[in-house]
Amino acid sequence: MPNDLQKKMFREMEQKAIFRQAQEWAFDYADGVQERNVFPTPEAIADLERFVEELPPSTGNAEAIIKQLQQYGSPASVAQTGGRYFGFVNGGVIPAALAARWLSDFWDQNTALYVISPIAAKLEEVSEAWLRELFGLPENTVAGFVSGSSLAIFCGLAAARYRILQNLGWDINKKGFSGAPRVRVVAGRQAHGTVVKAIALLGFGIDNIEWVDVDDQGRIIPSAVPELDAGTLLILQAGNVSSGAFDPFDAICEKANKARAWVHIDGAFGLWAAASKRLEHLTKGMAKADSFSVDGHKTLNAPYDSGIVLCRDKEALTHALHASGSYIAYSENRDGMLYTPEMSRRARAVELWAALKYLGQEGVDALVYGLHQRAVQVARELAAEGFQILNDVVFNQVLVACDSDAITAETMRHMQASGECWAGGANWQGKTVIRISVCSWATTEADITRSVRAFVAAREKAVHDLRRA
Ligand SMILES: *Cc1c(COP(=O)(O)O)cnc(C)c1O
Repeated sequence: MPNDLQKKMFREMEQKAIFRQAQEWAFDYADGVQERNVFPTPEAIADLERFVEELPPSTGNAEAIIKQLQQYGSPASVAQTGGRYFGFVNGGVIPAALAARWLSDFWDQNTALYVISPIAAKLEEVSEAWLRELFGLPENTVAGFVSGSSLAIFCGLAAARYRILQNLGWDINKKGFSGAPRVRVVAGRQAHGTVVKAIALLGFGIDNIEWVDVDDQGRIIPSAVPELDAGTLLILQAGNVSSGAFDPFDAICEKANKARAWVHIDGAFGLWAAASKRLEHLTKGMAKADSFSVDGHKTLNAPYDSGIVLCRDKEALTHALHASGSYIAYSENRDGMLYTPEMSRRARAVELWAALKYLGQEGVDALVYGLHQRAVQVARELAAEGFQILNDVVFNQVLVACDSDAITAETMRHMQASGECWAGGANWQGKTVIRISVCSWATTEADITRSVRAFVAAREKAVHDLRRA
């Protein structure tokens, strides 16, 4: 006999009222997302206090839980799936990928091993092959599916650490760092914060990084790269998080290959340029690197929780992520946990596969190039309104400034409060800037023009405020 709790949950699963309700509200959300405030109103934020309560002592009501989430959660969400969110580098979501996620949520698969989920293993395998093709990477490149680029970078650098030390006669898994040969870590001065974090987590030590000078776009200056050797890990970037610029891979990778140094490319959003005929020139020579990290949830617009590590040295990646290499018995099929630090993971490759299958080669190209076109448009229209554009808009990032830091900061505040659009701030070469990232398939030409109007109105308010002050 099922107990009371089981009976209750069997009933919820059978009746499906909560799922129908959730679906209805989700559809309402989708219908309203283009016109609602891009950032939640102050009232919606204040209402979040309603979630602060004692842990319920006993079992609750499923309908009431979903209702609370709808009533106070939805209004406090950021309208990232609309067309006028330009914050950080946050992708929207492709409908087919979202639907695939919904369906597979009911499967609740664990992708650790083939035997735990043959379907998840198959879709990882297929996605791996498609990604290799899209990025023009060699046949021996393998992929691990993780939560985001933070972890994908960690995995790539862990593979590098394993291989470099192995080549120097040292098994890092068994012996650790104490007494190990020195591994040099070389990175551009504008490496992403998550690269620095991975370096710290892996025990290299941030103070040991050999920083390479960059040019006015944030690109590594090839002649500033120090002498490399087989004990060196060199970290490059496809897509500077502020300017969107790409390091010149061709020349630098050539030099690294000659020296037998390991090259990792952090291409969280920028690696996708390699999948666009009109933008692939930005990534020329990248296939000469050893490992790569990229997100599904940024440029590709797959749902969140999608990062990918790609590595041309399968043994290094799998041994780095599984401390005792000797017990790893490859099954004939794909065992996903060999390529990731985690054992249990959700089946995120389902959505990635759906996004890739839906878009196809032409669709990925059109999506990526479309983001670039909208970025060029926003830069052009803002410049026509007297804003300064501080970067070369080579990809999807645009850095905007007004006549003074104070006006820029106030303009940003008013623009964010307007609910019309949202972009964050940054500091670029000592200047306060507004950083626009065009990253959603849903952004149209009209969205850009409307956002530019919001920038102009915000600047008027800012100038007015500052005059009064
Ligand atoms: C976003 C980003 C990261 C971190 O990726 P997450 O998916 O947020 O973990 C790393 N590098 C660059 C260049 C990024 O833009």
